[in-house]
Amino acid sequence: MRKKQELSFYHGSEGGGPDWNPPSEPLIRTASDSTVYGIRLLAFYLKGATRTQDNKDRFLADLIQAKDVWNFPMFSVTPETYSVGSDFGLPNCLDDVDISGEYMTDLMIFRETHRRLHPVERGVKTITIWYAPFTESLGADVLGRAFESVGGYPFIFMSNAANNGFNNSLLAHEIGHILYFKQSGNIDASDPTDPNGSIHSPQPDNVMFSTPDNNVNLEQSQINKARNSFLFVEIDE
Ligand SMILES: [Zn+2]
Repeated sequence: MRKKQELSFYHGSEGGGPDWNPPSEPLIRTASDSTVYGIRLLAFYLKGATRTQDNKDRFLADLIQAKDVWNFPMFSVTPETYSVGSDFGLPNCLDDVDISGEYMTDLMIFRETHRRLHPVERGVKTITIWYAPFTESLGADVLGRAFESVGGYPFIFMSNAANNGFNNSLLAHEIGHILYFKQSGNIDASDPTDPNGSIHSPQPDNVMFSTPDNNVNLEQSQINKARNSFLFVEIDE
């Protein structure tokens, strides 16, 4: 059974978050520049979230898939397998998650507190991934969502229902939405493979198709757009 995922973008407080650096020039990388640029990801397992996939850490499995399909560096700044003993009162359905919900403020405050305790992850240029129960797993049609700015922080929500082996590219897909959005200049989060300018690829075997499933295909135009995001930061290795 195919399940769709959806996303929503929030424009309310762009630029208002802590550590916010206004979008500057896109990062230019040349062959002589040995600096490694990548994106930083920080994952939390909320209470009730599924934490494993095939006996492996679920986030790490999603991260490996995301790195494989996008083929650029992604670094976890998650302290360990980071579990949170609360679900923050998120609604049962991921579809019902709303930017104005009280839980969203609480998640943002939690996130802000974490940033203060872990300055290495440097705030709003890190994508936060919330694995959450969303107990609607039967009949769920929204498996993952991306919010490009919650108090400045890019958030991705992942449902338990996605953890069934048939949605292995869901995190890669949501990361794509965030990177498409986090561009300098005019905000245009469209997918470069869609001539109609929608946010999704019309190609059913593409990672950015509306139901990414286990897709692994991306076109160079998509990778180029993602790489142009100002979320790319210099990585100290
Ligand atoms: Zn999508």
